[in-house]
Amino acid sequence: TRRAALSTVTGPGRTACGHRVALLANIGAAGDATGDAEGVGLFRTELMFLDRATAPSFDEQVSGYGEVFAAWPDMPVVVRTLDAGADKPLPFLTQPGEPNPALGVRGLRTARRAPQLLTDQLHAVAAAAHTASARVKVMAPMVSTVAEAVEFAEAARAAGVTEVGVMVEVPAAALQAARLLEVVDFLSIGTNDLSQYTFAADRMAGELADLLDPWQPALLELIAMCARAGTAAGKPVGVCGEAAADPRLAPVLVGLGVTSLSMSAAALAPVRAALAGHTLARCRELAEAALHGAPPP
Ligand code: PEP
Ligand code: MG
Repeated sequence: TRRAALSTVTGPGRTACGHRVALLANIGAAGDATGDAEGVGLFRTELMFLDRATAPSFDEQVSGYGEVFAAWPDMPVVVRTLDAGADKPLPFLTQPGEPNPALGVRGLRTARRAPQLLTDQLHAVAAAAHTASARVKVMAPMVSTVAEAVEFAEAARAAGVTEVGVMVEVPAAALQAARLLEVVDFLSIGTNDLSQYTFAADRMAGELADLLDPWQPALLELIAMCARAGTAAGKPVGVCGEAAADPRLAPVLVGLGVTSLSMSAAALAPVRAALAGHTLARCRELAEAALHGAPPP
């Protein structure tokens, strides 16, 4: 039964035929549930910056990141640099009154206005990583162009972080996936925002839930483009949005070529069980069907 499968499937993520898919956790703080994740695919760093009048100091950041890294010994931890703006305003960084905040200066774009904040964060991450056994990587939110990725990667590497990626949350980034992978080490697809921007549908608008459904073939086509680019480049392409937590969709994402799935800890067990129930060949069939609009099985 499904319940038996849930409790008996343990260990790293793999399909029925043994194809490995890293199952990672989305976290916002050191104390967040870990489940039996193989690492962190998305560490949202906003928490440290929220509800304050000024940015946290360099030392405060080093100790905050260090706490998180210590909770994940010898495991990969992907740190997402500050994703402010839109639904996450910060008094010292974002400007109130933008007519379209979701289309405004948010995510990596805030570094245009306050480059030092990003530089400090990258240096703090590198300093904390220096004394940790976790395999620390960084990625930027809301990247839309290769030029932005180049600039971010240069800043991250200059700070001393060796593995650098970007999130794919804007269709422009998905369309440029192959070129992005020429300048960064990995891609992580944020399906929450990628849905919002692909369908021009506010991610909080419950009334538009059908447009924001991660089974939408247009969204899956963009994910497929990224995954194909990853396969061609021999570089990892993961999904860290809510879509990764849907046990019926997980085999589809793997069939599209995604190499890791990152989700809240509670979703790990059902996703692990779902993958264990499908061969990679079957995942590819399910992916092909979903790209053609087949409803969830
Ligand atoms: C996403 O957009 O899918 C994502 C993972 O980032 P956030 O939900 O924090 O915007
Ligand atoms: Mg996002």
